[in-house]
Amino acid sequence: MTGAEPTTAAPDTSRSAELYRSALGLLPGGVNSPVRAMRSIGRDPIFIASGRGAIITDVDGNDYIDWVSSWGPLILGHAHPAIITAVSDAAQRGTTFGAPTEAEVTLAAQVARRLPSVEMIRMTSSGTEATMSAIRLARAVTGREKILKFAGAYHGHVDGLLADAGSGLATQGIPASPGVPASTTKATVIAAWNDPQTVQAVTERHDLAAILLEPVPANMGVVPPEPDFLALLRRQADDHDALLIFDEVISGFRVARGGAQELYGIFPDLTIMGKIVGGGLPAAAYGGRLELMERIAPAGDVYQAGTLSGNPLAVAAALATLERLSDDAYAQLAATTEKLAVGLQDAGSGAGCAIEVQSVPGLLTVFFSARPVCDYEAAKMCDSEAYGAWCRALLARGVYPPASQFEAWFPSLAHTDAQIDRTIEVAGEAFAELEPR
Ligand SMILES: *Cc1c(COP(=O)(O)O)cnc(C)c1O
Repeated sequence: MTGAEPTTAAPDTSRSAELYRSALGLLPGGVNSPVRAMRSIGRDPIFIASGRGAIITDVDGNDYIDWVSSWGPLILGHAHPAIITAVSDAAQRGTTFGAPTEAEVTLAAQVARRLPSVEMIRMTSSGTEATMSAIRLARAVTGREKILKFAGAYHGHVDGLLADAGSGLATQGIPASPGVPASTTKATVIAAWNDPQTVQAVTERHDLAAILLEPVPANMGVVPPEPDFLALLRRQADDHDALLIFDEVISGFRVARGGAQELYGIFPDLTIMGKIVGGGLPAAAYGGRLELMERIAPAGDVYQAGTLSGNPLAVAAALATLERLSDDAYAQLAATTEKLAVGLQDAGSGAGCAIEVQSVPGLLTVFFSARPVCDYEAAKMCDSEAYGAWCRALLARGVYPPASQFEAWFPSLAHTDAQIDRTIEVAGEAFAELEPR
């Protein structure tokens, strides 16, 4: 070789890179769910081989402190011995029957004990399915079709909810993805989060079946409700005979023992659950008062079904998880979140970076913004380039953050003080490495 020859970057020979090259020809984008591809932080995905506690290990043997926790389900951390035992014991007895089991009744009772607004639940296999079904029920109960949702909120990939706000908020939604019929998003009306005036206008102008919300939005990053906003939504729903539906797929069993409804003292008509309620296996649920839930088949006339709904392995994992979520556990999770949030904010400010760490117990987001983020418009103004560079620097140092500015960090009960300290130290180095802007 001579110096005159063109130089090309050496191909990445890591096992992750090799797997990614194969996966690209076999799975769309190489993954089974988009955010895993890490495109929004400008790098290739990392293939994971194993996890234990708060640590995940990739296929090349690198360890990371994991702050994603499978996007929420793993509140006890990876491979918790009690979950492994519960799931393998259940598997010994059979993986699915398509018939009712005792543990489903126990789980329904546990959920009802925690969530004051829930008396009866129906289980599904994913949060998407639970949302879809809760909306069907709300439409059946009210005899209306329109749903109010908030810009930047995510409720699963339900057709009618994959809606953009179009030219202005508080208008009919337009499809946010090819393949979504305009006729389905027409029934979705979109308002800005934390915007009481628009909510009032929308509830007066449209006959709504439901107001649907994440009581602590975490899919535009964590943007808590402003004081009295949830109370206003409750009042507007009541005054206009619409149902109030809380999507607690993330906040449920996380921000408090009884979810966001307990934390804020505002109670919905229907609650959508997922993530933690599956204990790391595929399960979700929706629930509410008897008189509403008894409209679901076969008690009532609203059809909804699922081959693997209430799956014995998932139910065993859920029961083993909920059993460990005591008041002490919530105090620990809140302390972990607070320590991490304060540490990250100080590290960023110390390095002269314009960041805002927003948190509630069990969830936080590091917004690359000079001002607090109160809605989706503000979240979209964040410096995602800088966020991406910061995440790449964290990953290079063994800390695994959510690979998008619009996602939350998910502290777990497995994270130790030493892991929090290490994360803050590494975050400081990564902030310092960013280009000044
Ligand atoms: C993850 C999520 C869903 C969808 O749940 P899946 O199990 O991924 O279908 C719905 N709502 C919220 C708030 C979520 O975060």
